[in-house]
Amino acid sequence: MGSVEPPKSEFNIVIIGAGIGGLGLAIGLLKQNVPFTLYEAAGAYSAIGAGVGLGPNALRAMDMIDKRFKSLYDGISTGNLTPNKEHVMMDLMPLEEGLGGDNFVPIPVQSPSYIRTSAHRRDLLDIMTSLIPLDTVKFNKRVKSYEQLEGRVAITFEDGETVEASAVIGCDGAKGATRGAVLGEAYPDQVTATYSGKYVYRSIVPMKEAIKILGKNAGDGKWFMGNGANFTTFSISKGAQFNIVAFKIDDKPWTHHQWTKMVDRETMLADFAVGWAEPLQWSIHHHLNTPVYYNGLICLLGDSAHATTPHQASGAGQCLEDSLVLSILLGLVQDSSHIQAAFQAYDEIRRPRAQEVVRTSQEAGLIYTYQDPVIGSDIHKVAENLNKRFLWIWEHDLEADVNTGVSRFHELIASGSI
Ligand SMILES: Cc1cc2nc3c(=O)[nH]c(=O)nc-3n(C[C@H](O)[C@H](O)[C@H](O)COP(=O)(O)OP(=O)(O)OC[C@H]3O[C@@H](n4cnc5c(N)ncnc54)[C@H](O)[C@@H]3O)c2cc1C
Repeated sequence: MGSVEPPKSEFNIVIIGAGIGGLGLAIGLLKQNVPFTLYEAAGAYSAIGAGVGLGPNALRAMDMIDKRFKSLYDGISTGNLTPNKEHVMMDLMPLEEGLGGDNFVPIPVQSPSYIRTSAHRRDLLDIMTSLIPLDTVKFNKRVKSYEQLEGRVAITFEDGETVEASAVIGCDGAKGATRGAVLGEAYPDQVTATYSGKYVYRSIVPMKEAIKILGKNAGDGKWFMGNGANFTTFSISKGAQFNIVAFKIDDKPWTHHQWTKMVDRETMLADFAVGWAEPLQWSIHHHLNTPVYYNGLICLLGDSAHATTPHQASGAGQCLEDSLVLSILLGLVQDSSHIQAAFQAYDEIRRPRAQEVVRTSQEAGLIYTYQDPVIGSDIHKVAENLNKRFLWIWEHDLEADVNTGVSRFHELIASGSI
């Protein structure tokens, strides 16, 4: 369970949303002894299953948020199943060869600074929620609107209840209500996420099914690259299950009102010759531009700030980096008048990096589907690009981010500019 020390601060933070972002922040605030209440629209923690791959930056963020978090993650995470491939992120294969193809020698994307780990999202959420006292979480609370008052925020939920907080951190995902409260007035065009021009079919299959589909290519992280389409696969659940995501480039706008669309089997088979996935298209939306991460006493974290395409396997990692930096900054706040200094320092540190992840991820998606005008369909050039592409994300100095953020916070307080 979380910290048992009494809260050191007199202000109260409200977190909206219990995804990886909201839970990461909650663990961080517990560690920093900052009081909070977390409100989640759903009736329980999400059990939606999908695989999540985390890079070394995400693992370091976990460790810096709370060592127990990283140690619990080590207990549930899975690497490549082939021995001595811990530094290989993915092997590249052409999609045209067929998923079980024997004729191509896979090209590794690897770095000594990378350790392959993935987890079932449900297992990740389970370890995170095990660190958070249940009495700090309120379910069935969907935010309807916010009102910024003098030094407070009033939060009204769809059930009619209104609560007040010293500040709100909206971790309510790419479609959440908080983004509108932060950007709606100054940047109304940037509130809604945009369609990235691709959708996915996704599935988690038992390993014995994966072997039927992929033959000897099951077990390790693999990227199958093709013209206008690609597959990503990796092991989760200690090798008992295999995560498969099939990406399809789409040149039409996404017009369906929801971000998932059930199609008939023939439509799916026309996209991919796969029988293992439900014929459910998941649209991939992102926030390519977010001009600011806070407005007054309301701040964005995770996908609400920087929803990204998943091509660099970095969205969840960016949630954890946000959680690390913001929890430490909020831990410095002595009274409510310091909160905006924490938000400004967080915005300055986190926004340039997170938005660059969003931008480069979209670029990577084009490379995997042979849409890049220079690299084209030369898989060796794709591999060359990918072997350099992730290093700035993985090897980033989070200690330096924290130190810069802390200095900036003190500077802002001392200057009296906030
Ligand atoms: C196909 C795919 C594959 C991916 N693979 C990877 C990967 O391998 N590695 C990686 O790092 N990232 C990956 N990602 C990205 C990663 O999953 C997300 O970045 C991350 O889960 C976002 O977490 P979040 O907490 O910000 O938002 P969410 O998970 O969307 O959580 C938001 C929460 O807020 C709640 N909520 C919403 N609105 C309200 C409201 N009005 N009031 C109250 N509560 C509300 C929701 O119910 C939800 O619980 C992938 C994404 C996709 C789509």
